[in-house]
Amino acid sequence: MSWNERQRRMLAAMGVRLFAPASAAPAVAAAAQAVEPVVDAGAAVIERPAEAPVAPVAPRGATPAAAPVSAREPAPAAMRPTTQAPAAAPVRAPAPARGTTSVAAALAGAIDPALAERAAHIATLDWGPLHEAVAACTACGLCESRKQTVFGVGHAQADWMIVGEAPGEQEDLQGEPFVGAAGQLLDQMLRALGLSRRAESGEGAEDDQAGDPARRVFIANTLKCRPPRNRNPEPEEMARCEPFLKRQVELVKPRLILLMGRFAVTQLLKSDEAIGKLRGRVHRYEGIPVIVTYHPAYLLRNLPEKAKAWEDLCLAKATADGL
Ligand code: URA
Repeated sequence: MSWNERQRRMLAAMGVRLFAPASAAPAVAAAAQAVEPVVDAGAAVIERPAEAPVAPVAPRGATPAAAPVSAREPAPAAMRPTTQAPAAAPVRAPAPARGTTSVAAALAGAIDPALAERAAHIATLDWGPLHEAVAACTACGLCESRKQTVFGVGHAQADWMIVGEAPGEQEDLQGEPFVGAAGQLLDQMLRALGLSRRAESGEGAEDDQAGDPARRVFIANTLKCRPPRNRNPEPEEMARCEPFLKRQVELVKPRLILLMGRFAVTQLLKSDEAIGKLRGRVHRYEGIPVIVTYHPAYLLRNLPEKAKAWEDLCLAKATADGL
């Protein structure tokens, strides 16, 4: 399939009627080479290992839902999750200082040494223990309302890593990220790029660990638990969940990270700038190229922005291919 065909399929999949001009892809590729990294939220230089570990994969499923105030799907009152306390709970980190208003300060853990200690432990975990630690986490109040944790899905050594906001109702029920309406749009976007959360063909393939690394994706969220009624993540929740995502990035070692929505941006890039200001450039997280784009749920509510999201995906592909 040629790149132009991909473009057409992508735009059609995303519901954009205007076709990109034939010259769009080369232009984006050139732009990707021209742009300079503006943010590097980390320092470590990461090398790709020869062997791919096996990532725990959540069950699949998809049920559309409408978009809420935050980027995620809403929570119909009739479908509130029942509480399910984890069987084994790790040491609960003490509550951070009251009056913490700065997201950046909370995320840095600078105000709470216990957060740093917990983060240091999580940074040592391999896939299995990491999955167990997430499943047993009681570090914030979300553990009381979640049905289950949502670890992430995809290949343990994917070239692409996609980071969203937090589980919604369907994700909470099914244990897999992006399985609602926003997830369906995300899957369409991935398919148009030749990527899939599911193995080689992306069409019902069963082996999530198979396939060309360039087609593989690992999808994770900023928060591993659903905020009640799909409210926005709070800074303290993000701070306590951040070590899990950080470790996932370290284990996957992606060639490219695609951040979808402002909470993913806040957590990894430590920036409060609007998506509109951050998109169109290559940022860095721990040395890994990062592209910022709109959250799929936002796109469902703001159809004209899909064309911009498509540009972002072109830039992401050009950046990943150019590495
Ligand atoms: N939105 C997200 O950001 N993540 C999900 O898993 C589902 C919806």
